[in-house]
Amino acid sequence: MRLRLTACVVIITLSIALLVSAAWSLEGSRSQAALKVTANASAREQQIAQAAEALRPQLILQRRDFHMHPELSNREERTSRIVAERLRALGLEDVKTGVGRYGVTALLKGAKTGPVVAVRADMDALPIQETIDVPYKSQTPGVKHACGHDVHTTVELGVAEILSKMRGEINGTIKFIFQPAEEGAPPGEEGGAALMIKEGALENPRPQAIFGLHVLPVIEVGQIAFNSGPAMASADRFVITVRGKKVHGAYPHDGVDAVVVAAECVTALQTIRSRRIDTTEPLVISVGSIQGGNRYNIIADEVKLEGTVRTLNEDVRKRAQALMRETLSGITSAYGASYEMQYEEGAAVTYNDPRLVEETLPVMRRMVGENNLVTRKPQMGAEDFSYYQKVIPGFFYFLGVGNRAKGITAQIHTPEFDVDEESLVIGVKTMANVLLDYLDRHKAGTGATPKR
Ligand SMILES: [Zn+2]
Ligand SMILES: [Zn+2]
Repeated sequence: MRLRLTACVVIITLSIALLVSAAWSLEGSRSQAALKVTANASAREQQIAQAAEALRPQLILQRRDFHMHPELSNREERTSRIVAERLRALGLEDVKTGVGRYGVTALLKGAKTGPVVAVRADMDALPIQETIDVPYKSQTPGVKHACGHDVHTTVELGVAEILSKMRGEINGTIKFIFQPAEEGAPPGEEGGAALMIKEGALENPRPQAIFGLHVLPVIEVGQIAFNSGPAMASADRFVITVRGKKVHGAYPHDGVDAVVVAAECVTALQTIRSRRIDTTEPLVISVGSIQGGNRYNIIADEVKLEGTVRTLNEDVRKRAQALMRETLSGITSAYGASYEMQYEEGAAVTYNDPRLVEETLPVMRRMVGENNLVTRKPQMGAEDFSYYQKVIPGFFYFLGVGNRAKGITAQIHTPEFDVDEESLVIGVKTMANVLLDYLDRHKAGTGATPKR
């Protein structure tokens, strides 16, 4: 009995020891594998950092060339030609031009199988006369890369350049999208992200996520800013026509004064923001233009109000539009006038998928350092990157290009806007790693970020 008990104890002890040692060795091999992955990733990150540094002179030259030859929305003939030629020279597959007018798409297929991820840069400039005296000053009178799209295009080409020589490191496929007309197509024309999507930019193959960046002069070069969730606003345009009845200015009671009614409408529209919508939800309703009447002593029979509505929430966007109609209807009928409103929905809310943001932050931290990765309040400006995010999850972040010490502080869309070109190398190495890191995480086909 006693002997048996001893034997039992020995057997149990031995079994536990075996189990523990098996668990240890399993744990050991797991942590070794993890270490190997980390070591591979960090070796690759070093390789990319070195390649981006080596590319610095070429990146600066390329950005300056784009800057000196800016092209307006839907007129990016030269820029898109240079982009397509470069992508072909780098050996990218399936280089397509003319996607949404001057849009270009191309594939970079990795040596290993995996998912498809996309990166997008916009290429158009603005009708602004450059006033700064720099060696790379715009050669086109009245047109300037005042929104930094020259930087975006250069960074994406830099990413293609570096990664095209690292196919062995790519677990899947990278789809490069170079987009025209982000600033809005000329009147009567289609363009931008919406048109590229309509013409198949997100098909054959469909990427399962998309990344993009925008220059930001209010943060210093070396920093990256981001938002999880809403990052930029929806942007809609409205044209309201208030109709009254024209009479002699001396006898207003015989007519309906569209000027007085329009004035009431302008004021009442602001109460939607202050009294009708949840105060914690950002909303802007701005009337930017009023036109009406034709003589000082004639009561006007028609006034046009033109403006914009901005929100960070699609529900608020719909509600604001309905409340505008309700308000306009009530006010105009109270005065015996009538109204008509044309409401055009523009870019949607630029919404960064929180899960995609969360999983991307570690690699961004490694690129710029913990303290240089900053969050910022969502902006009420808009960005047509939001159209891609309506189809697939996306992450749109901000690349610091300001440098107070060098006096580089001007805002985008100004005649003085400039960037610190040091941002090019940072932009390239960050985006290249963000893309590879995404493909690494999703190579098994599991854990794909679901559609919002
Ligand atoms: Zn812009
Ligand atoms: Zn822009």
